[in-house]
Amino acid sequence: MNITAPFANTLDLIGNTPLVRLDGPSDAAGCDIYGKCEFANPGASVKDRAALGIIRDAEASGDLQSGGTVVEGTAGNTGIGIALVANALGYRTIIVMPDNQSREKMDTLRALGAQLVTVPPTKYADCNHFVHTSRRLAEETDGAIWANQFDNVANRRAHIEGTAAELWDQLEGRIDGFTCAAGTGGTIAGVGMGLKERDENCVIALTDPHGAALYSYFKNGELASEGTSVAEGIGQGRITANLEGAPIDTQYRIGDREGLEWIARLLREEGLCLGLSSGINVAGAVAMGRELVAQGRKDVRVATILCDTGFRYLSTLYNADWLRSKDLPVFDWLEQE
Ligand code: PMP
Repeated sequence: MNITAPFANTLDLIGNTPLVRLDGPSDAAGCDIYGKCEFANPGASVKDRAALGIIRDAEASGDLQSGGTVVEGTAGNTGIGIALVANALGYRTIIVMPDNQSREKMDTLRALGAQLVTVPPTKYADCNHFVHTSRRLAEETDGAIWANQFDNVANRRAHIEGTAAELWDQLEGRIDGFTCAAGTGGTIAGVGMGLKERDENCVIALTDPHGAALYSYFKNGELASEGTSVAEGIGQGRITANLEGAPIDTQYRIGDREGLEWIARLLREEGLCLGLSSGINVAGAVAMGRELVAQGRKDVRVATILCDTGFRYLSTLYNADWLRSKDLPVFDWLEQE
């Protein structure tokens, strides 16, 4: 275990997250499955990286000036990352969020000092969608920038320069495959590009939840979705600028039940409390590992992202009544009186 020297600044706490071998998923896949612990970022999610990358980029271009405001539409985690980075750099934050996201994320945003605007969930084509609402608010606010995480490629650049480079170093230049789900697509595209730059034989797979259109797009070129998912932060219906040119070799579609089984097992057997996108990612990594092993590869190593902490979903994924209301299986320990 390496102990690092003190960091000079709190923003340096973003990134350089630990990578951990996951025993249960590795046994299930018959190879080594590694999880990148993005819940260890100060905002407890992978989105701190995009938040910092986007804000630094806007400062460098001169768009964001001293005392300015950062406005963003988000499922929550990007907003939490932006609020923390903005606090550290002296900016204000305005966050627009669909009102069907977890209560914990809304409470957290308010606690961090962000101005929170909630809107009813609606289709992207609707002008009242949270993304369009946030763009308008940014236009109407003096000294504000619109972070625009979906189509601002400073997002994926944070993963090319950060996440991919770290994974490569942590696995000492030997990684057979990487997979994760897409929200903005910044993580899958950025890590994919960064790893392919170093080893073109590293297989990059998209893991898509139900209700998203990318599985079908990468399989047969058609943006089409099937089913639904309760996973927050993932599930994309279009090719965002971050996804353009993403080097996706193959794809898996993973249901909520399979993702939930993995978050239950990771909690009970390995002591990690995670959100559902992490469970879906781990299920995708197991599928990928099995496939690479079946192809006859030796000593296979697959990495994925553990996107955020489960503490953000105590009122949903870890709540028996909520699970029942969504017709999902209840973890047996939650049934206790
Ligand atoms: N998981 C969670 C919990 C998220 O909040 C997000 C971000 N929306 C993702 C996964 C997906 O990350 P990205 O936006 O980089 O595709």
